[in-house]
Amino acid sequence: TLSPLNVPQRLLLGPGPSNVNPVVLAAMNTPPLGHLDPDFLGIMDEIQTLLRYVWQTQNRLTYAISGTGTAAMEATLANAIEPGDRVVVCVKGYFGHRLVDMAQRYGAQVHAIHQTWGQPFSKESIQNAIETHRPAVLAIVHAETSTGVRQPLEGLSDLCQAHGTLLLVDTVTSMGGVPIKLDEWGIDLAYSCSQKGLACPPGASPFTLSDRAYAKLQKRSGKVPNWYLDATLLEKYWGSERVYHHTAPINMYYALREALRLLAEEGIENAWERHQQNAEYLWSQLEAIGLQMHVAKEYRLPTLTTVRIPEGIDGKAIARRLLLDYNIEVGGGLGELGGKVWRIGLMGYNSRPENVDRLLQAFKEVL
Ligand code: PLP
Repeated sequence: TLSPLNVPQRLLLGPGPSNVNPVVLAAMNTPPLGHLDPDFLGIMDEIQTLLRYVWQTQNRLTYAISGTGTAAMEATLANAIEPGDRVVVCVKGYFGHRLVDMAQRYGAQVHAIHQTWGQPFSKESIQNAIETHRPAVLAIVHAETSTGVRQPLEGLSDLCQAHGTLLLVDTVTSMGGVPIKLDEWGIDLAYSCSQKGLACPPGASPFTLSDRAYAKLQKRSGKVPNWYLDATLLEKYWGSERVYHHTAPINMYYALREALRLLAEEGIENAWERHQQNAEYLWSQLEAIGLQMHVAKEYRLPTLTTVRIPEGIDGKAIARRLLLDYNIEVGGGLGELGGKVWRIGLMGYNSRPENVDRLLQAFKEVL
């Protein structure tokens, strides 16, 4: 016989999931309602309103995909791309490669442009790619979790709109922790996750389409090649028709609603500022013990910091000791940066100075 579940209490300072506010966990413990219960539908409406606030958008089609960030990524590409569309994907890390692979599976003619892992794209290089390929969609990751780079997005929509291109942005590691203003920045399609800046468990992932993106979806000649993620079908459940589509993960939506409520109570600008201040504290403390950041300060993400593993140090062994002896999780490098960096997340509920202090104390002892 198995003993009851017994999970260690860890401080999750890796690339996500991050720790969840106990208020959010308690919300998950609420008994489920039916997925068409008017009280539950009211909670879904609140989620939509709160997602619009956190993303700073008025997009009517804004809701949660039942799945992790990758499911929301699939939903966004499935609804944005028609077979044969030219799609430019800006690749500067692991998740850019995932976008390329996915866009190809939806039948796009993908033109990938590349940037060194650890640097953002310049506006000129993106302009050049748009003018050369005149794509239907330009896809880019705002916060590249594999490198810790923040990609400036201001001004890209003018370049896109001049060529009828939809601007599609991955905000998985930025939403809730890094300034992002979808409408002001003219972003047409975006997706995110629940387990990072929103400080919620993984499993209900924000998704939004602008009117421009929705117009393209309505004009497409064939069906969206994925029934579960077809926004026109999902809309019938999330919108006014309230038609059964799939059984919503009720308790996940409770958690998302509470996580978003807490963020709204704090105020999104205050949350952005808190992330920035705690990240700067982390960077100064790491530098004080002789460690080097991988990304130039101007483009460093406040949510996810890549720290170079010093010569002669076994980064994996250090991370393992932090986990097993100190109950602190930090991430290792992904893809090209495997073995070269640690990835330290300060996201959502975890973005607090006492967590920086706890990590630094452990780091000093282990190093
Ligand atoms: N995009 C980015 C930038 C990510 O960091 C991640 C996950 O860390 C994903 C997409 C995929 O999200 P998930 O792992 O929740 O499916």
